[in-house]
Amino acid sequence: MQPEHATGKVVKLRQFTTLRLGGTPQRYYRPAGLPELRRCVRACERAGRPWRVLGGGSNLLVDDGELPCAVIHVAAPVFDSIAPARGAAVRVGAGVRTSRLVAFCRDNGLGGLEFLAGLPGTVGGAVAGNAGAWGQQVSQRLSRVWLLRKDGRHLALEPEQMEFSYRGSGLREAVITEAEFRLEPRDRELIAGQVAEYAAARAERHPAGIASAGCIFKNPPGDYAGRLLDECGMKGARVGDAEVSSVHANFVLNRGNATAADVLALVRRMRRAVRKRFDIGLELEVRHWAARTQVA
Ligand SMILES: Cc1cc2nc3c(=O)[nH]c(=O)nc-3n(C[C@H](O)[C@H](O)[C@H](O)COP(=O)(O)OP(=O)(O)OC[C@H]3O[C@@H](n4cnc5c(N)ncnc54)[C@H](O)[C@@H]3O)c2cc1C
Repeated sequence: MQPEHATGKVVKLRQFTTLRLGGTPQRYYRPAGLPELRRCVRACERAGRPWRVLGGGSNLLVDDGELPCAVIHVAAPVFDSIAPARGAAVRVGAGVRTSRLVAFCRDNGLGGLEFLAGLPGTVGGAVAGNAGAWGQQVSQRLSRVWLLRKDGRHLALEPEQMEFSYRGSGLREAVITEAEFRLEPRDRELIAGQVAEYAAARAERHPAGIASAGCIFKNPPGDYAGRLLDECGMKGARVGDAEVSSVHANFVLNRGNATAADVLALVRRMRRAVRKRFDIGLELEVRHWAARTQVA
């Protein structure tokens, strides 16, 4: 399979990230199925080229400029399937939008994933990062994950083998292709009501309609990064076109022409403020994909 790169098309990742940032990978692959996915991984491994996996791009801070890696985008139709499984389970392709999965569960009377209402991105990204909201996280509902390892093996793992943590997993150099969720039969109206409630709560607490990657920092143990940043007076702070949301101090917005360097400078300022006032070191929640050289 030819990467799009080889056809002369320069692929900028900013078109795929919700923060609207991201430069050019060494190769951009969008495999049409498992055999092609395996070939992409093999090509990278043989060339000794590092590779990263892209889902919905909603938890990424990607530098502008040239990235020292290939990017494998899990976005082809073959990864977009949802199928009922035994019991009240569903087996879902990694490229399925989380919102589509929530709607599927609602329409089919399958309860358990309502807390994901309004979460951007794909199922692959949600599993890789153990996405969560309202005190619940994806790993609590997972019964199995299928992934392709860098040695070309495609295997199914139990959740215990995924080493889930708060907003993380032990996943390294592997591509999630499918996940199975253990759900329970529930009244559709009840699910619809709960989904609407969560969506409304998000709309109220999060900035809407502006480019962002959600929360920039993880919550430190026993506290909220947003609260600490708010106390430090960070709401509205700005570097170039990167701005701390005035609705939620843990959201950094791209007001239009922000560069990754702007966002990183703002992130450093936010971190410094919290360190100085509370002596707490905030950890990034978004994944930072660094370029060879930072573009200003
Ligand atoms: C407005 C807004 C609100 C948000 N609210 C929340 C929230 O409440 N809770 C929360 O947890 N997150 C939240 N997020 C962050 C984000 O939506 C989630 O982390 C989401 O699950 C990321 O999925 P994605 O497909 O976009 O992943 P990406 O951003 O594409 O990737 C994120 C990470 O997952 C890896 N990855 C993606 N797909 C795969 C795959 N198939 N196989 C292996 N690795 C993969 C990537 O390599 C990367 O390391 C929010 C983001 C936004 C913009």
